[in-house]
Amino acid sequence: MELKDRIRKIIRALKRAYPNAKCSLNHSSPFELLIATILSAQCTDERVNIVTADLFRKYRQPEDYLKVPPRELEKDIRTTGFFRNKTKSIQGTARALTEDFGGKIPQTMDDLLELPGAARKTANVVLGNAFDIKAGVVVDTHVSRLSHRLGFSTEKTAEKIEQDLIGLVPRKDWVIFPHLMIYHGRKVCKARNPLCSECLIEKFCPSSFLKTGEVPGS
Ligand code: SF4
Repeated sequence: MELKDRIRKIIRALKRAYPNAKCSLNHSSPFELLIATILSAQCTDERVNIVTADLFRKYRQPEDYLKVPPRELEKDIRTTGFFRNKTKSIQGTARALTEDFGGKIPQTMDDLLELPGAARKTANVVLGNAFDIKAGVVVDTHVSRLSHRLGFSTEKTAEKIEQDLIGLVPRKDWVIFPHLMIYHGRKVCKARNPLCSECLIEKFCPSSFLKTGEVPGS
């Protein structure tokens, strides 16, 4: 079966399995999603949601993040890890939004990439989930692992895996696709012990241990 046909069938099956798949970072505005995405680097979404529950009550707009000394913000986000760098990114982003974008979140990839700490993944998360703009495909650790196992990409970097996915995934599915991969990666195609015998897309997967006799790598 051609790869593009296979990926379409996989997407269809996963949409049926995870009809409510969506961004798991809690937010009520594009700005909150941007901050949550910056905090999610090297941290679980669950931990970010615990921290942002208080954070978003204290800081409502970009200016609020500029009114406090870095030490105070560092304390507020400490448990998400890498809190010094994240504080610099958040305050740099808040400053750029205020000074260059009139306090609004830009809606193009080029503008978003100008914000400190915003790489393609952050920009794709915000554009796709806050504005439904399909500029690219989010590649995180789950998307990367499943893309390798399912034979969508052999590349190592997120940027190159994304380019492979852009060529394979129908554009209308660019936003939902990573959510489907993430849901399936958390529930079934886990990093250490993938549950191939329970996997509803097993018949489409070249790495299934039912076929290879080996536990798939990541
Ligand atoms: S068959 Fe196994 S390796 Fe392939 S997607 Fe399913 S759980 Fe992952």
